[in-house]
Amino acid sequence: MTYVIAQPCVDLKDKACVDECPVDCIYEGPRKMYINPDECVDCGACEPVCPVEAIFFEDDTPEEWADFRNADAEFFAELGSPGGASQLGPVERDHPVVAGAPLPTA
Ligand code: SF4
Ligand code: SF4
Repeated sequence: MTYVIAQPCVDLKDKACVDECPVDCIYEGPRKMYINPDECVDCGACEPVCPVEAIFFEDDTPEEWADFRNADAEFFAELGSPGGASQLGPVERDHPVVAGAPLPTA
């Protein structure tokens, strides 16, 4: 059980949460940030700083964004535990739920 980043982050990615994370476990995809569940220490520091309230403790993710509940964990199925987002840099592909999300309206 860990924190996840839901739909409001898509195409925003202001990275306010990244600056708060003590273990550098918030990784960047093309359209959304992702929390690595194996590296997150559940400190909760990221959650209150998100300007759009996109970060939730997994079980508390609103039903409307249920698709996002497992997206972060699945995003790391291939990547594993890189050990630091700043060292890895941006990842080139999003989870399918994110890649298929509607584009923001102008
Ligand atoms: S603070 Fe919120 S909107 Fe900004 S990158 Fe983090 S999760 Fe996304
Ligand atoms: S809960 Fe803490 S360790 Fe986990 S992503 Fe947020 S700031 Fe990082």
